[in-house]
Amino acid sequence: MTTDRIDLDGAAGEGGGQILRSALALSLVTGRPFRLERVRAGRRKPGLLRQHLAAVHAATAVGHATVTGAVLGSQELVFTPAGCHGGDFAFAVGGAGSATLVLQTVLPALLCADRPSRVTVEGGTHNPWAPPFDFVAKAYLPALARVGATVTATLDRRGYFPAGGGRLVATIEPVTAWRPLALLERGPILARRARILLANLPGGIAASEEGVLRKLLPVDLWPVEHERETDGRGPGNVILLEAEAEHVTEVFSAFGELDVRAGTVAQDAVDELRAWLASDAPVGPHLADQLLLPLALGAGGTFRTSHLTAHTHTNAEVIRRFLPDVAIDLVQDGPAATVTVTRGPRS
Ligand code: ATP
Repeated sequence: MTTDRIDLDGAAGEGGGQILRSALALSLVTGRPFRLERVRAGRRKPGLLRQHLAAVHAATAVGHATVTGAVLGSQELVFTPAGCHGGDFAFAVGGAGSATLVLQTVLPALLCADRPSRVTVEGGTHNPWAPPFDFVAKAYLPALARVGATVTATLDRRGYFPAGGGRLVATIEPVTAWRPLALLERGPILARRARILLANLPGGIAASEEGVLRKLLPVDLWPVEHERETDGRGPGNVILLEAEAEHVTEVFSAFGELDVRAGTVAQDAVDELRAWLASDAPVGPHLADQLLLPLALGAGGTFRTSHLTAHTHTNAEVIRRFLPDVAIDLVQDGPAATVTVTRGPRS
């Protein structure tokens, strides 16, 4: 195994936090150090935010790594791991930085570690621009289970952006035998569910959202459930549209915001769902970018996705840098795209 340092440009492609998280995950598993310059240069506020710093600290703990530049606002990081070590970890993002993204940073390494792990992460569990906990539990982890990964995740309490304060716990078994993924068909949709989460906000918001959902979705197919919290945490409002198909479950979400009408939030969630339904592909755009890493580190595979995003292209590029023997083909095919990850011999 080569340990040459990899130099990465954080302004490349999407220019966001995913380059950092993928680099940390890949560095841990391959043992290759990296230097990342211009961290999150494509974002309005570049450099390491709390969530990214928490991801660096988490990776440092799992990899017994040495790291320079791990401070808030840092735009350059050098990370040198020393193995992948399972164990019992507790990470706190601070504020509402995404707890799920911190979990996803260390998950690939812990799947390749020497022993089982238990990971507790405190922070935001329901943030816009990050996987909501429900997506991780119902879409992402079941997809990982198909390739041989045994991971459970439980939600102790929700943490909404911007207050945070949520907590999730995951248990991770090292993978004994990776399996290739073949996910080309969605199969019939077996169950549908719309959920409206509302924390410390007037109930009228959820009622308006339900009214719009009922206009936009066939009422007989999409039962609408309300989950209301009034325990002082939040405020928060999320619409989750969960579609369980024969071969895949997808979860689409939209987040309520101050000054954004309830109808707009419901419309946004339905637009995401409809784009996926119209494509006929099993894998939605978010799950697509998140599946590349486990496939590249595991036994490869192929899937069809409704939409190739900048995140997916950027992630593929970072993976190619760490794993030159892995071929990632992203091919647009009509309204959908086929993604194929082929493993060559390990260097
Ligand atoms: P920044 O863009 O500020 O650097 P970041 O570090 O949060 O932010 P991104 O690089 O934008 O990260 O990556 C966000 C990740 O969250 C991607 O993997 C994306 O697919 C995922 N994601 C975003 N929104 C959702 C959603 N609604 N459902 C599932 N996954 C999501």
